[in-house]
Amino acid sequence: MEDPTAAQGILKTSAEKRIMNSASVPPEDCIFCKIAARKLTSYMVYEDETCMAFLDTAPFSKGHTLVCPKQHGETVWDMDGAEIGGLFALASRISKAVVSVVDADGFRFVQNNGEAANQVVAHVHVHVIPVRLADKGRFMDRKRFTAEEMNSVAASIREKIAEVV
Ligand SMILES: [Zn+2]
Repeated sequence: MEDPTAAQGILKTSAEKRIMNSASVPPEDCIFCKIAARKLTSYMVYEDETCMAFLDTAPFSKGHTLVCPKQHGETVWDMDGAEIGGLFALASRISKAVVSVVDADGFRFVQNNGEAANQVVAHVHVHVIPVRLADKGRFMDRKRFTAEEMNSVAASIREKIAEVV
């Protein structure tokens, strides 16, 4: 018979593994924590007690938004199930506003954990990236929009979020 304790031991070890990220910083140096504390400006589109959403400043497409908890944590392993559920439920709501505002055909959720996954900011975040059929299968590159364009799309998303559930 298999020893269930041994199996638990393996699971425990696996769950305690840390995810390596050379971008790791203490919360006081974290740019997303600074955005949450309003020490850095952002194109904020949504905020509540626990979460916030703002435009990615080097977006893959117009409307590319980052949704994250205000509390610092590097990966989803630093969050409990309810927090993860709340984050993705909010990301879904944000996606409806984003897709509507930029008239996209679909959207991607991208959630990177660790350097190997190309997580650049070591504070949990979900990318909401609107996509078009015309770009299906194409490599997406980072883009730059003017401050006016960013402000305009942020304002439209902010307005739209109030209408979507
Ligand atoms: Zn942080």
